Amino acid sequence: MFNESKPNHNIHCSVKACEFHCGDENYCSLNSIQVASHEKHPTDERCVDCRSFACKGGEC
Ligand code: SF4
Repeated sequence: MFNESKPNHNIHCSVKACEFHCGDENYCSLNSIQVASHEKHPTDERCVDCRSFACKGGEC
């Protein structure tokens, strides 16, 4: 599923510490991602997270 050479231009992402981030290009390489909230009642974008995140090379 992971392919660093094929950014998914439908998923913009700036989380460079993620295994699925496309390096110089701010896109995710996955076909789809799971997004969820860590709040009971989310009120803005800071309340939601990408649950498909994986630590890049165990550096996190
Ligand atoms: S899995 Fe989530 S955090 Fe990781 S690059 Fe894709 S969108 Fe960003």
